[in-house]
Amino acid sequence: MSNQIKKYPIIEVNNLKTWFPIKRGVLSRTVGYIRAVDIAGLYINRGETLGLVGESGCGKTTFGRTLSGLEKPRTGEMFFYGKNILDLSRRELRELRKKMQIIFQDPLSSLNPRMNVLDIVTEGLAEFGKIEGTREDHAKRLMNEVGLDNDAIYRYPHEFSGGQRQRINIARAIALRPDFIICDEPVSALDVSVQAQVINLLMDLRDTYNLSYLFISHDLSVVSAISNRVAVMYLGRIVESGLTGDVINNSKHPYTKALINAVPEPGHYQKERIVLKGEMPSPSAPPSGCMFHTRCPEVMEICRKQEPKETMSGIHQVWCHLY
Ligand code: SF4
Repeated sequence: MSNQIKKYPIIEVNNLKTWFPIKRGVLSRTVGYIRAVDIAGLYINRGETLGLVGESGCGKTTFGRTLSGLEKPRTGEMFFYGKNILDLSRRELRELRKKMQIIFQDPLSSLNPRMNVLDIVTEGLAEFGKIEGTREDHAKRLMNEVGLDNDAIYRYPHEFSGGQRQRINIARAIALRPDFIICDEPVSALDVSVQAQVINLLMDLRDTYNLSYLFISHDLSVVSAISNRVAVMYLGRIVESGLTGDVINNSKHPYTKALINAVPEPGHYQKERIVLKGEMPSPSAPPSGCMFHTRCPEVMEICRKQEPKETMSGIHQVWCHLY
């Protein structure tokens, strides 16, 4: 895809806050909130992959779960093809499930061990009355699409390797011919040698079916391999976003630079050495001003007091007082 400027957004998010109440005492009073996600704006075009990257615990998985309806936001809007998901009726939400799917990190625990592959990958088709011919026909076609043998459909999840199990998860996700798939750390649990194969499969399927992905990962090198654009998340907020090449080769935010620095091949992306100090603060008590100021090697006085505003250069956005 050559143009990633907002054009045909399949997903659009505005002022989305997924906060979890902290309850205390016998009366279970709300004494605060864990501010897991706080996104001012984000979009994903049709056929585009947006990579969402950040350390573990930064809120990226909660954002994926919010988009897919597994978590309820406190406020905000989430549009799918221009319709606010939060306004949909139960029937409309059920229809949405056909068009939006999710692939989870752990390929084993996301598959029912008592079901064979045939039942797993055709369950959604049967539920929505989409079986034409036999379930076997559908299951075999799906096996072909994800690079598994036809006789895999008669076996159970424990009989496969991690990479094969993730292929089964992908087969289940594409069975209903969705337009949008949330890939939540889909290769993190796999051997490095298998990761590239699964990413190549996801890219092939994206090109064949014009799929859009939200690709969530803590690993910037994995995200950059598949994404058209990248958004970097810290403590629930986007701190930098742009075309993958711009964010990797011309990163602005000190946090992005630190993430790039953590990529195993030093100097592959850039030579500047920045090391992150300390732990990420708790999302229940985020720092004042810039949320990154407690760890930032370039912190200034203003950073402790004032939240940085968005600075834009083309579609490259950054939230930092340095710019
Ligand atoms: Fe660092 Fe200040 Fe920029 Fe935050 S605003 S990333 S503390 S320089």
